[in-house]
Amino acid sequence: MSSTFSAPKGTFDLLPPESEVYLAIREAMAAPLRRAGYRYVETPTFEQTALFERGVGESTDVVSKEMYSFTTRGGDHLTLKPEGTAGVVRAVIQHRLYAGQLPVKLWYSGTYYRYERPQAGRYRHFSQVGAEAMGVDDPALDAEVVALGMTAYRDLGLSEVRLLLNSLGDAVCRPVYREKLTGFLAGLELDADTRRRAELNPLRVLDDKRPEVAKQLADAPVIVDSLCDDCRAHYDAVRRHLGDLDVTWEESPRLVRGLDYYTRTTFEFQHDGLGAQSAVGGGGRYDGLSEDIGGPPLPGIGWALGVDRTLLAMRAEGVELAAATGCEVFGVALGEAAKQQLVKLIGELRARGVCADLAYGDRGLKGAMKAADRSGARLAIVLGERDLAAGTAQLKDLGSGEQDAVALADLVATVEGRIR
Ligand code: AMP
Repeated sequence: MSSTFSAPKGTFDLLPPESEVYLAIREAMAAPLRRAGYRYVETPTFEQTALFERGVGESTDVVSKEMYSFTTRGGDHLTLKPEGTAGVVRAVIQHRLYAGQLPVKLWYSGTYYRYERPQAGRYRHFSQVGAEAMGVDDPALDAEVVALGMTAYRDLGLSEVRLLLNSLGDAVCRPVYREKLTGFLAGLELDADTRRRAELNPLRVLDDKRPEVAKQLADAPVIVDSLCDDCRAHYDAVRRHLGDLDVTWEESPRLVRGLDYYTRTTFEFQHDGLGAQSAVGGGGRYDGLSEDIGGPPLPGIGWALGVDRTLLAMRAEGVELAAATGCEVFGVALGEAAKQQLVKLIGELRARGVCADLAYGDRGLKGAMKAADRSGARLAIVLGERDLAAGTAQLKDLGSGEQDAVALADLVATVEGRIR
């Protein structure tokens, strides 16, 4: 036999019933956004590579090591999107959505691609639901976005998600802090790679989890001590609004996150049940991003929640999310004429909104009844030649095993009555 194929390294197939739990998680993440006026947006799976280089930042691992980039036959340099914000901001600029009602509030759901070292909770192809609010710099909007993320987790039944909060300052105070941090880092023992990273973006180094680096960072200056008056007032207001919205948080002065575009409010949703990959979601304000990618000044704030890790968090907390079950009714026909009648009946049930399926192929009564049992349906319609001649069908309750004859003319109404 020739060799078979399997899903590429770092990817997995979503199969029922878990695939349906994924759908339900995406839906639960989107629901609070819809209630707050966010509209659905969908952008292409790939974008020009330069969009991510300029938007996400060349000092980040995502851009420097993890992008799936390729040159097309036409010579375009494209990249499978490693995150959602850059593409959405590109679309907002391209279609001048900022010329309408502000803030522009958008949500999306998609799969993203990073060439990472695969491990539990870290894949090369993963799924996020995201939200972006653009065009207004209002701390109340920051609080709204953060609170909507917390609501999504709460609605999913998670009680152990922690919100880590920080402010990364702006174009006024960040450079001052950067200088201070650069001075501090100069006195540490760092390998050549880390030095290079420190030159590109010293804040990146704060994210280094390796013990030999983390140990040396214990006394590093933190950005909150260097915030300018505007950024401090903004951060205070965000926290005030979060308090009003009953959202609790933990100050996390070292939180920098893996993407370069963040300014001011920066946050992460963490769950302790996941081992090393504890971030289930995260986001922040990105006031300079639009200009970085050639657009007008357009402040923005957003988040992305990881669907895969949220599922792991639910498992860790023992939260069950009812997956959509199979059909309620399963039809079994014996003989051609009965089959023809049954196909019609099942079609009518479906048209009336009943989830109905039937045995296909020639499996005989025993095989077909086994299929009915396996389907998980509550009722089976069994239609043989003799039933057909009598103008009836057998309606069997697959739970109790009870069975009775029902006139074909009444069948749809009877089935509906029994399953509702
Ligand atoms: P980021 O886009 O890096 O801010 O990530 C936001 C969220 O997406 C994270 O908190 C994770 O839940 C999820 N995520 C990011 N990268 C991966 C990955 N490689 N595999 C699975 N989930 C991921």
